[in-house]
Amino acid sequence: MNRKKLTVKLALATCAMAMCVSANAQWTGYAGIKPEMSEFYEPVPPVVTPGVVLNDGGFTAPSDAIVLFDGKDLSQWESVKGGPAEWTVKDGVFTVDKTKGDIQTKQKFESYQLHIEWRVPENITGESQARGNSGVFMQGMYEIQILDCYNNKTYVNGQTGSVYKQTTPLANAMRKPGEWNVYDIIYTAPTFKKDGSYRTRPTVTVIQNGVVLQNNTTILGTTEYIGFPQVKAHGAGPIILQSHGDPSEPISFRNIWIREM
Ligand code: MG
Repeated sequence: MNRKKLTVKLALATCAMAMCVSANAQWTGYAGIKPEMSEFYEPVPPVVTPGVVLNDGGFTAPSDAIVLFDGKDLSQWESVKGGPAEWTVKDGVFTVDKTKGDIQTKQKFESYQLHIEWRVPENITGESQARGNSGVFMQGMYEIQILDCYNNKTYVNGQTGSVYKQTTPLANAMRKPGEWNVYDIIYTAPTFKKDGSYRTRPTVTVIQNGVVLQNNTTILGTTEYIGFPQVKAHGAGPIILQSHGDPSEPISFRNIWIREM
């Protein structure tokens, strides 16, 4: 190394060291800062009494939830075609009536935590998408698939817990036909620009039977059977439950509640 280069290198090293010392000289640690200076006491989160855990894996509504089905009737629901929701209610459970079409909540929602329990009948038949197919549509636009995926092969972006034809679930956490499956869905509604495109996209987290299937997944647009996601500006929307046209035995629901966020 020639002298000139060495001099420059030494100068740089000295300079770096000086900066270090200088930074160290200014470091005062947390002197004068007390723990309580980074603690606050308001606003106080509301007290929520949790629901009851059922011995078959279900979970009843916490105290601040809107109960969308309490086992008695479908008064919170209506037919998507108009008129009352006419699926069958019996023994604290309601069952899809495929002759009546989809049903939706009367109330419209933006962002929320949704709890919904569903059961594939023990005598289910069929295969792939024609086996216990239903679905939960958020804001009437975006389907989280419900399907009997217990030993049933189908396209993976259409299996249980998929954002239908968009995002494959991270796991298959199905309980077998005849047992209750539990969905906890945390959904954030999109916002839109004036031109109708997303300013912020919708996102969803889906947990089935305590297993994460979707982790804050970005929804790309509507969940189309044929074709690709479309972006359509919308406001608050209902939760729709799908009456799928396949010939397999209809599935049942119970214990549906929602907490708006
Ligand atoms: Mg479906």
